[in-house]
Amino acid sequence: MTNAPAVDDRRHHVVVVGAGFGGLETVHRLAGAPVRITMIDRRNHHLFQPLLYQVATASLATSEIAWPIRHLLRKREDIATLLATVEGVDIAGRHVLLDDGSTVSYDTLVIATGARHAYFGHDDWEPFAPGLKTLEDATTVRRRILLAFERAERESDPQRRAALLTFVIIGAGPTGVELAGTIAELARTTLVGDFRSIDTRESRVVLIEAGPRVLAAFTEDLSAYAQRALEKLGVEVELGQPVTACSAEGVVYGGKTLPAATIIWAAGVQASPAAQWIGAPSDRAGRAQVEPDLTVPGHKEIFVIGDAASVADPAGNPVPGIAPAAKQQGKHVAATIRARLAGNHQDAAFSYRHAGSLATIGKRLAVIDFGRIKLRGALAWWIWGLAHIYFLIGVRNRLSVALSWLWIHTRDQRSSRLITQGSAAGRSADPGKDPARPE
Ligand SMILES: Cc1cc2nc3c(=O)[nH]c(=O)nc-3n(C[C@H](O)[C@H](O)[C@H](O)COP(=O)(O)OP(=O)(O)OC[C@H]3O[C@@H](n4cnc5c(N)ncnc54)[C@H](O)[C@@H]3O)c2cc1C
Repeated sequence: MTNAPAVDDRRHHVVVVGAGFGGLETVHRLAGAPVRITMIDRRNHHLFQPLLYQVATASLATSEIAWPIRHLLRKREDIATLLATVEGVDIAGRHVLLDDGSTVSYDTLVIATGARHAYFGHDDWEPFAPGLKTLEDATTVRRRILLAFERAERESDPQRRAALLTFVIIGAGPTGVELAGTIAELARTTLVGDFRSIDTRESRVVLIEAGPRVLAAFTEDLSAYAQRALEKLGVEVELGQPVTACSAEGVVYGGKTLPAATIIWAAGVQASPAAQWIGAPSDRAGRAQVEPDLTVPGHKEIFVIGDAASVADPAGNPVPGIAPAAKQQGKHVAATIRARLAGNHQDAAFSYRHAGSLATIGKRLAVIDFGRIKLRGALAWWIWGLAHIYFLIGVRNRLSVALSWLWIHTRDQRSSRLITQGSAAGRSADPGKDPARPE
């Protein structure tokens, strides 16, 4: 079966796979170009991943950080949106292969399928230590955190109660730091007074990192500041200790066993299998190694961008897997397609501009590295907050997120403390046995 256009349309056909930051920016920048576009995504929504941890920690609702792709593109009559999973590419025939056996032909293909978390060869840890990449992941983590408190309330055995009140985060990059700080606040302020048998302030939040410091991508003084701020919030920071086992009982690290009911994985990423679809060389994280112009070696008609791609900037530094890099690549690809259609086939190399690195530590503190300017503390948090609100889509969402944050700031309340996905009280409520595991 082939998905043919409904009318005879001889315009150059650009197929974009993935409506994340890179894919959406590509189609945004192609507005008005003499092309027709097909956008394919296996989900019906674009997700603002930088705020996923706030859904996981009950600060924001899912609808505040995700938007239907079809709605985002509704004014673009040049774009057809397909909800489908891509499973391969027929390079010789110039077709994208979909999971239902149908195909979509292309003149130019842009692959922007992102990445998922990786367990470094220990995929069996995933049921016990879910990562954070999709909305389902975030609601799964939220469910586990909230259920752990509920089960602790009913637990009379002190050791089992202590394990239920122990929250382990593996990986001290920005996501791990953000999660640890927010869970500590949840336990030490938000939930205090809600329970009768337990004191939520007795919870342990343990952040385990194999490397020598938290926020390794930041300068040493900013990462030392972040560690101190975390410890002030009550987070136990364990550095230089790789985790060697995860199970329903807890984690093993540095030769020690820590009983814990809730473990969250924030340690590594694995690119989508795009490199395999197109037979491109890939790096250790599975990212397709593309040419400096972001095309696949030997195939000028195929681009891979964002977290799915591995490319160095002109100085030889690897372009980081962050949203601004994916957006800049989307912009570059759109400019290349436009130039080619105008008769210029001398593709320019992609040049990455790093605007800065940001990470929050709880609801009041953050660190920012703008290169020459480095900020930390409350001012950095305000800049972080404004930047994220600015990048959210739509006035309604900006207002809604701003109000949610104001509520958290002034009342220490997190309004999204909902346990969803199945019965909270039944057997399926056991951490490690979620009724709705993310795919
Ligand atoms: C928890 C978390 C926090 C983060 N925080 C920050 C931050 O604070 N700042 C920052 O700059 N970056 C952050 N990032 C990184 C940032 O989100 C990514 O770098 C960015 O999303 C990459 O954009 P992308 O377009 O390559 O992929 P994505 O945005 O991941 O989009 C990929 C799209 O492809 C679709 N897709 C995947 N496979 C298929 C398939 N087979 N068929 C069809 N569709 C498919 C997916 O559904 C998705 O819509 C964070 C990431 C995570 C997970």
